[in-house]
Amino acid sequence: MNKILEELKKEASKCINCGFCDSVCPTFSASGYKGFISARGRVNLANSLIKEIKNSSNFSLNISEAYYSCLGCYACFEVCPAGVNAGKVSELGRKLIIKYRKDQKKYLAELLVKIILKYKDPLGLSKKCAEWSQGIEIDEKSNIIFYTGHMYQLMGYSKKLEKFMLDNKLIFNLSLKFLNYFPFLNKFSSYFYDKEIEERMNNILKKIFNLLKTCNINLNYLKEKEPYPGTLLLDFGYEEEFEKYSNYVTKLFHENNVETIVTIDPHTLELFKFHYPKYAKDFNFNVVYYLDLLNVSNIKKFDKRVTYHEPCHFVRRLNYNLHLKILKEITEVIMPLHKGRNTLCCGGPDAMLYPEISENIACNRFNELERTGADYIITSCPVCFTNLYKSNKVFDLAEIFEYQ
Ligand code: SF4
Ligand code: SF4
Repeated sequence: MNKILEELKKEASKCINCGFCDSVCPTFSASGYKGFISARGRVNLANSLIKEIKNSSNFSLNISEAYYSCLGCYACFEVCPAGVNAGKVSELGRKLIIKYRKDQKKYLAELLVKIILKYKDPLGLSKKCAEWSQGIEIDEKSNIIFYTGHMYQLMGYSKKLEKFMLDNKLIFNLSLKFLNYFPFLNKFSSYFYDKEIEERMNNILKKIFNLLKTCNINLNYLKEKEPYPGTLLLDFGYEEEFEKYSNYVTKLFHENNVETIVTIDPHTLELFKFHYPKYAKDFNFNVVYYLDLLNVSNIKKFDKRVTYHEPCHFVRRLNYNLHLKILKEITEVIMPLHKGRNTLCCGGPDAMLYPEISENIACNRFNELERTGADYIITSCPVCFTNLYKSNKVFDLAEIFEYQ
């Protein structure tokens, strides 16, 4: 308990209880202003928790809803005068649950963890995740791999699952308990997807791959051998499982003579840049983001006015925003009210565990983007795309790129 607790104390004890963080925390308003589903509520809960376990090795407080509902968007950190990050507090809270109070875990999270460890994909769909690559030209000798991390491919399934959860709560909860005993039945999930999103995502993957090829980059792709990177293991607080899993993925990359990993989404990029080096032995690959490899000055002008939804993970966690710079060079960009480091989360990280909160946040952000009056709404993360996909105005950045 000590290491996690020490970190928690270091973060939460700085709080001066001003409440600024609640004004920007998307889950507070989206939950109907429930105090414990807000940034300050999460920090206060941590301080109560620290007091409770000062002299014991356990705690009785129920911390599950507060910490699992946090999006990890870090909007709170941007406004906190004391430098508290309630997102980090939530991450530590989830680690405490998994280590010491498994009775407070989430069934769906536990199920996804079991499936990831067994099938190297959250839905056991590695084969299906490689289908987009039919017909593309792969250089199997190249040590530069195009790494999808299954993020774009899985979005068709998460969209459908979220809708099912919202419409059939009781059936969903019962099937979840059943699946926890028989996780192999997850194979039926391959019939459970949103066809339109799936096709769109597969086309985006092809588009990114071909944009890179046009820049004379020889790319290998591991197809069905490509494992999911394990993002959810860490997100759900399963630190020990993540350590083993990240070592498995690293070994597989070495066995395939990988030297450079080309990532295409912010979640995987962040995981490989910041977390794999801490948990996995010999993770010594060159990790790059695809946009940094494109011949940007050759991208054609785009004749529509666009607005850009900046993903939290890019602008706040990775401090990366080349997307906006390129967009401004090729077209007219009208930015929404919340922009730059004050961007609003799309609600995506709550889609599985708290679909109602997620949907409220997504609608709020979509309406704000719509109000700009732009012809197109652009984003650069598959999670944001799927959560904000409420009209055919929504596009992934790669979809509007063409070379001159
Ligand atoms: S903004 Fe910072 S100091 Fe103020 S309540 Fe939130 S965590 Fe505490
Ligand atoms: S990380 Fe986001 S959702 Fe979590 S407490 Fe901070 S503002 Fe709220």
